[in-house]
Amino acid sequence: MDLQQHFDVIVIGGGHAGTEAALAAARSGSNTLLLTHNIETLGQMSCNPAIGGIGKGHLVKEIDALGGAMALGADRAGIQFRTLNASKGPAVRATRAQADRVLYRAAIREIIENQPNLLVFQQACDDLIVQGDKVTGVVTQMGLKITAKTVVLTTGTFLAGQIHIGLENYSGGRAGDPPAISLAHRLRELPLRTDRLKTGTPPRIDARSLDFSVMQAQPGDTPTPVFSFMGSQALHPQQIPCFITHTNESTHEIIRGGLDRSPMFTGVIEGVGPRYCPSIEDKVTRFADKNSHQIFVEPEGLTTHEIYPNGISTSLPFDVQVDLVRSIKGFENAHITRPGYAIEYDYFDPRDLKFSLESKFIEGLFLAGQINGTTGYEEAGAQGLLAGLNASRMAHEHDAWSPKRDQAYMGVLIDDLATLGTKEPYRMFTSRAEYRLLLREDNADIRLTEQGRKLGLVDDARWARFNQKMEYVELEKQRLKDNWVHPQHESVEALNPLLTQPISREHSLETILRRPEMTYAQLMSIDSIGPGLEDPEAAAQVEVQIKYAGYIERQLGEIEKQKRNEQTLLPTDLDFSVVPGLSNEVVAKLNDAKPQSVGQASRISGITPAAISVLLVHLKKMG
Ligand code: FAD
Repeated sequence: MDLQQHFDVIVIGGGHAGTEAALAAARSGSNTLLLTHNIETLGQMSCNPAIGGIGKGHLVKEIDALGGAMALGADRAGIQFRTLNASKGPAVRATRAQADRVLYRAAIREIIENQPNLLVFQQACDDLIVQGDKVTGVVTQMGLKITAKTVVLTTGTFLAGQIHIGLENYSGGRAGDPPAISLAHRLRELPLRTDRLKTGTPPRIDARSLDFSVMQAQPGDTPTPVFSFMGSQALHPQQIPCFITHTNESTHEIIRGGLDRSPMFTGVIEGVGPRYCPSIEDKVTRFADKNSHQIFVEPEGLTTHEIYPNGISTSLPFDVQVDLVRSIKGFENAHITRPGYAIEYDYFDPRDLKFSLESKFIEGLFLAGQINGTTGYEEAGAQGLLAGLNASRMAHEHDAWSPKRDQAYMGVLIDDLATLGTKEPYRMFTSRAEYRLLLREDNADIRLTEQGRKLGLVDDARWARFNQKMEYVELEKQRLKDNWVHPQHESVEALNPLLTQPISREHSLETILRRPEMTYAQLMSIDSIGPGLEDPEAAAQVEVQIKYAGYIERQLGEIEKQKRNEQTLLPTDLDFSVVPGLSNEVVAKLNDAKPQSVGQASRISGITPAAISVLLVHLKKMG
C-alpha cells in the first residue's frame, strides 16, 4: 500500500475512537489509512488512566466481543482490577482497570502496527475534499491530497480546542498537543450543526511528596478480574493498590475564595461540562452542604511517580490549585507536576447522524467519539468500531450494521445520540439501558461475537475460543437439567446444610441451583455433583442463565412487543406537518430529529403514546 492509492477508508485521529475505527475497517477487509497528529500518542488517555466502570465496562466487553482492541489493551496495561457492584445483580456488575498509561499506549500501538490492511501516517488533516455532497478524500497539513471512498472523523477534543487555567487561556488539543484549527474552520463551513462543550482534568502530583500512611489503601480484587474474552491473568503486569483520601472544609473555603478567578464561574467558558464528572469547584458550589468529597489517589503507572487525584478536576488558577491540593489529608507537601485545566472544543449535533454514524448530509463521512458529544474512552471506542465497520461496508457497497437497543449498550449509545442528541457530554450508565438484564458484561460475547464473525470482525482464534466456551456451557446446562437428587441421594448429607429447605423430594440440579441461597461453586463443591466447569467464564454463564431464566424470559417478551414499532419505518422525506392530529410542538420535534422508525420516534422526549398512535394511523393510510 502507498499513499498514492485510492483507499477504502481514511480515519482521521488516533485516539480511542480512531484506533478502533481503523482496526475495524481493516479487519473487515478495507485498505485503511490512519492519519494522526502524532504516532507516539496513538491510544493516549487524555484524562484518567482507567478503563471500564459502570456502564463503560459493558461497552469495553462489547468492543472486545466484536474483535476490538480496548479490552486487550486493558489486560496488558491494568495495574489494579476491580469488579464494581460485585454484591449486586449480574446486570450492573462492571469491570474496571486502573491502567499504566505507557503500557496501554504501547499495547494499542502494537495491535495497530500488526494489523494487516492498515497503514499509519503521521500528519495533521487540515481539510476534507468534498465533491457535491460526497466526501472523496483529505488534505494534510503539508498539502498532500489522499483520496478514499469513505472518511471517518475522530478528532476528539482537538477541534478549535481552547485550554483554560484560571483566566488564562490558549489554543490546544489537550495539554501538550496542538489543536485542529484549520479543520475546525473547514467543518464549520459544511452543513453540520456544531456547538461547544467542555471537559476538565485534575492536576497531577508527584507521589514522593504524598503521605500514603494517612490514606486508606484500596487493593484490587482477588482473583484478579480479566477484561478480554481472549485475555488471562497471565497478561497482567504487576498489580498495585490505589488509595483514598478526602477534601475538607478548608479545601472548600480555598475553592470558594478562588471562584472570582474561575473561567467557569466568570463566564469565560461557555461550553457545557460533564454533569457526572464535575470539577471540584462545581461540586463545592452545587453540593454546598457537603463538607467532604472523596478522592481516589490513582497511580499513573509502574514506572512513574505521577499520580492522578481522581475527584479534583479543576480549572481554577494555578495558585489556588496549589493551595487546595495542599489542604487535603496526606497532600500537605504535594508537588504538582502538571496543572489541572479545562478544555472547550467543537462538537457536532449527533442527531445529524444515521445509525451507521454516517453524516446525513455528507455521503461517506462518518463521525465517532468525543466530536459526537460523548465523553470517555469507552464511548469513543464503541462508536469508532461501528463507524470504521460501516465506512468499510459502504466502501464495499454492503448495507450498514449497528446493534439495536436490545442487543448491546453500543445500540443504546447510538440510538440515544442519533435520536435524542445531547446538550452535555454524554456518558454511559446501566440505567440508560431498558433491557439491562439481557445486556450484561458476562454475555457480551454471546450477544455479539457470532454477528462479529459474519461482519468479518472476529478472527479464527476468537471464534474457536467462543465456540468452545458455548459448548461447555450447553453441555453443563444439560447435565444440571438431567441429573436429579432425592432424599436418599448420596449428595444430600452435604447439600442440606447449604439449603434453607432440605431436600424432601426429587429435584434436578438445575432447580437446586435456582434457589437464591445456592451458588454454582457451592453446588460443585459436593463430591458426587462436582467438580463442574473449570473455565470460570463458562461457569459464571451457566449460573447466570439458570438463576435468572425467569427474568430473562420476561424481558425477551417485552422486546418482542417493542420490535413491531422498531420495524415500522418512517419515510426519510416525511414532513411531519402533513400528519393530521399532531401538535405543533410534536411536529417541530419530529421534523428536527427526523426519526427513522416509529420506535425511534417514541423515544424522543415529549413524543407521547397518543402522538405515536396518530403517526401509525397516518402510515396505515399512506399504505
Ligand atoms: P481523542 O482521544 O481526543 O483523540 C483524538 C485524536 O485525534 C488524537 O490522537 C489527535 O491527535 C487526533 N487529531 C485531532 N485532530 C486531528 C487532525 N486534524 N489531524 C490528525 N489527527 C488529529 N473522559 C471521561 O470519561 N472522564 C473525564 O473526566 C474526562 N476528562 C477529560 C479531560 C480532558 C482535559 C480531556 C482532554 C479529555 C477528557 N475526557 C474525559 C475525555 C476522554 O479523553 C475522551 O472522551 C476520549 O479520549 C475521546 O476519544 P476520541 O478518540 O474521541 O478523541
